[in-house]
Amino acid sequence: MQLREDIRNIAIIAHVDHGKTTLVDQLLRYSGTFRDNEHVDDRAMDSNDLERERGITILAKNTAIEYKDTHINIMDTPGHADFGGEVERIMKMVDGVLLVVDAYEGCMPQTRFVLKKALEQKLNPVVVLNKIDRPSARPQQVIDEVLDLFIELGADDSQLEFPVVYASALNGTSGNEPDEQEESMEAVFETIIENIPAPVDNSEDPLQFQITLLDYNEYLGRVGIGRIFRGSIKVGQQVSLMKKDGSVKNFRISKLFGFIGLKRIEIQEAKAGDIIALAGLEDINVGETVCPTDHPEALPILRIDEPTLQMT
Ligand code: GDP
Repeated sequence: MQLREDIRNIAIIAHVDHGKTTLVDQLLRYSGTFRDNEHVDDRAMDSNDLERERGITILAKNTAIEYKDTHINIMDTPGHADFGGEVERIMKMVDGVLLVVDAYEGCMPQTRFVLKKALEQKLNPVVVLNKIDRPSARPQQVIDEVLDLFIELGADDSQLEFPVVYASALNGTSGNEPDEQEESMEAVFETIIENIPAPVDNSEDPLQFQITLLDYNEYLGRVGIGRIFRGSIKVGQQVSLMKKDGSVKNFRISKLFGFIGLKRIEIQEAKAGDIIALAGLEDINVGETVCPTDHPEALPILRIDEPTLQMT
């Protein structure tokens, strides 16, 4: 089986305030994915207000980080139970999760909620015990609590062997032991690359791309974000959209976007394992599959139970 060793697709999950945003900012900084003239003033994943203003409800954000020769797509997930459908959809497009837990607070309701979803999807978590700098941090106890929660939620044997990285996202330190912190995010990156599986490279098979999230751009209209499950895709390609009601619409891919840092960049082609955005058809919806016109085969329907529906 061929793998795309140059890619890792992960979701970041945590209880609110346990440090997801700070951690992603720090990973971006350390990797140098931001160029010199760019600032991380606006915190990486906090652009929901803007979206609400524009009447669009995408709650998840993706960030792409270049670390050494690996392109790591990090999908943010809403922690709140109202967005269970969105969390589930994101879990279906990644190969592993980064579970961030506050080293003082320990497991909280949203830790349980998102971890349960990840375990159900058979994903293997990497645990980041964050805020290790807090004087009241109690890393050993919290790791025991995390293990208990895994057991309670029915984790399988391989999930129970989760690797742990100890970090202070605030101070930019990480390490494999609570008291062996280095001023870098290297331990976090290395643990991700070592433990999260690379996507399968089945790019010779017929294209299947499922729209997992929707975005809106005033010039391009609706933009569908998702993962290429198999095959490859090119700008200008004629494709079919398998609608949820069973009908099929043909359209031409007008633009494709990849992600670097917090930005979208135009690309000409992409293949299995890549997380991309595509434009070209106004009438796209979450859960629909894009495939070759001569090989129409939809992926299983995704659960939707949130305000994205208002857009349709
Ligand atoms: P999110 O809700 O998970 O995205 O959490 P944020 O990244 O917004 O962090 C919540 C709060 O915790 C902020 O005030 C951060 O400055 C603080 N924080 C994040 N990481 C650390 C850390 O490693 N140590 C300490 N002491 N505080 C942190």
